[in-house]
Amino acid sequence: MNEPIHNFAAGPGVLPAPVIAEIREDLPHLGGHGTSILEMSHRTPPFEAIITEAEANLRSLLGIPDGYRVLFLQGGATLQFAMVPFNFLQGAGRPADYVIAGTWGKKASEDARKAGKVQVAWNGEPLGFSRMPGQSELLLDPKAAYVHITSNETIEGVALFDFPNTGAVPLVCDASSDFLARPLDVSRFGLLYAGAQKNAGAAGVTIVILSEAMLESAPADRFAMLSYKAQAAGKSMHNTPPCFSVYVVMLVTRWLRDTIGGLEAMSALNTRKAGIVYDAIARSGGFYRAHADRASRSEMNVSIVATAS
Ligand SMILES: *Cc1c(COP(=O)(O)O)cnc(C)c1O
Repeated sequence: MNEPIHNFAAGPGVLPAPVIAEIREDLPHLGGHGTSILEMSHRTPPFEAIITEAEANLRSLLGIPDGYRVLFLQGGATLQFAMVPFNFLQGAGRPADYVIAGTWGKKASEDARKAGKVQVAWNGEPLGFSRMPGQSELLLDPKAAYVHITSNETIEGVALFDFPNTGAVPLVCDASSDFLARPLDVSRFGLLYAGAQKNAGAAGVTIVILSEAMLESAPADRFAMLSYKAQAAGKSMHNTPPCFSVYVVMLVTRWLRDTIGGLEAMSALNTRKAGIVYDAIARSGGFYRAHADRASRSEMNVSIVATAS
C-alpha cells in the first residue's frame, strides 16, 4: 500500500524522495528548535533563516542579477493573472500585449481585460495551441505597458525556447511549469512568476522575481496584499507567509544545487526523461502522437493524443 507510484501529475507534482525524507525527519521538531515548522512564528530566527536560504538558493541557481527582488506570495500563479494587470495595467493609460499560446496564457489575458486594454500579440488557438510563435509573428506595441508570455503551456505541452525581444517594453512571464527545470536568463524579464507546486516545492507559495525598475514603476495605492510595493516592503511578510511551503522551496532548491548540481544538470536530466517518452510515442506506429509541433515540444509536459481508429 505504501509503495510509491509513478506520479506524472503536473502539479502538485512529485517531490524528490530525499526532500520528503527530510520533511518527515524535521516535522515534529525543526533541527533542534524544539518546535515544528507548522507551529513556529514567522518572526523568529529559524524561519528568517529558512526564507533567507530559499531566496539565496534561488539567486544562486538562476544567477539572479542584483537589481532584482525575490518575493514569496500567496494565491498561486492565478493571483498573478490579476496582480500583474492590477499593478501595471489598471490606470496606466496604455494597453498590455498578451501572447496566447495555450490555456494558461488565455486565462491570464481574460483577467487582464478586467483591468485595462489587452492586445493579443499572437493567438495560437486557431492552431489548437500546437506551437509557440516566432519573433516575426508577434504583433508588439512599443507603447505597451508590458508583454505577457507563458514559457511553458502546461496543458498543451508547448514550450518557448527563445524568449521574445520586446525592446524597452518589460517582459512578464508565467514560468509556473518550467521554473527551475532549465537555466533562465532572468535579466530578460521585468517580472517572472511561478507557483511552487509544479517544480519548486509544495502548493501555497508563488515565487515572483521582479526588477527594481518594475517595482519602482508599481503604484503605491493598491490593496496591500495585491501590491508588489507593499509585499516587497514587507519582505514577503506583510502578513503571515505560507511558512511550510517556503520551507519546502528551501529544501528543493538546496537539493537542486547540492545533489543535482544546478539547472544545467537538471535540464540535461529533463531532456533525457522527455526523450524517453517522445521516443515511445514515435514507436507507437502513429497510435499516439505528441500534441505539440517538434520545435515547441515541452520537456516538462508531454501532451499525448491517441488516435483511436
Ligand atoms: C498550474 C499553472 C497555473 C496555475 O497555478 P496555480 O498556482 O494553481 O494558480 C498557471 N500557469 C501555468 C503555466 C500553470 O502550469
